[in-house]
Amino acid sequence: MGRLGGFGARLADESKSLNIFWLKKAGYLSGSSIGTITWKLGHQEIVSCVIAIHVFPPDRFIRLTFKVEQPSSKKDQTTDYKIKITTTPCYFGGVRYWFVCPLIHDGIACNRRVAILYLPSGASYFGCRHCYNLTYKTQQRHGCRLYSTFSKYFDLCDKTKDLQEQVGNRLWYAGEMTRKAKRLMKLRRKQLASDSLLDNWDCLH
Ligand SMILES: [Zn+2]
Repeated sequence: MGRLGGFGARLADESKSLNIFWLKKAGYLSGSSIGTITWKLGHQEIVSCVIAIHVFPPDRFIRLTFKVEQPSSKKDQTTDYKIKITTTPCYFGGVRYWFVCPLIHDGIACNRRVAILYLPSGASYFGCRHCYNLTYKTQQRHGCRLYSTFSKYFDLCDKTKDLQEQVGNRLWYAGEMTRKAKRLMKLRRKQLASDSLLDNWDCLH
């Protein structure tokens, strides 16, 4: 997948982006679907991307087809590739979807779970804000708690999953709830709070 060239710090607000929450809201994450996303950047540049999404396990992905202008040849090059989609379980059942960043940095795949992928001007591959070294105007102005929230959420999901596997059905011992089961309940309560925070994520962005 996409290998990274050198990108200096730039603003995420000025890049084309794919937002998993937006795709869910638009009904794209309920099976297999095809659609088009159009970005209007500044006053002139309009870019369209055909998307095909498949979210049936185990093979979940978004396929992107779009044209990238090649400044050297002034010809458009059609780009077509898939990006993996992964899930985390929600407290009340069902799953939450995330992109898996497809970029490779110094021979190491990024593979970060992210809600937003960006395509900076001149790039052919969508990637996460870490790989493209993107910052936010809002982050610069106010400081932004959002991304620490995401990484904490993923930690919580992983810890809950591990502990759930360890505990299995062994919640009780001699009539008392086991320490691990109590800890699992605590983690689940935290996940419930984080889930409702993420459900309102659009308002935070
Ligand atoms: Zn990345």
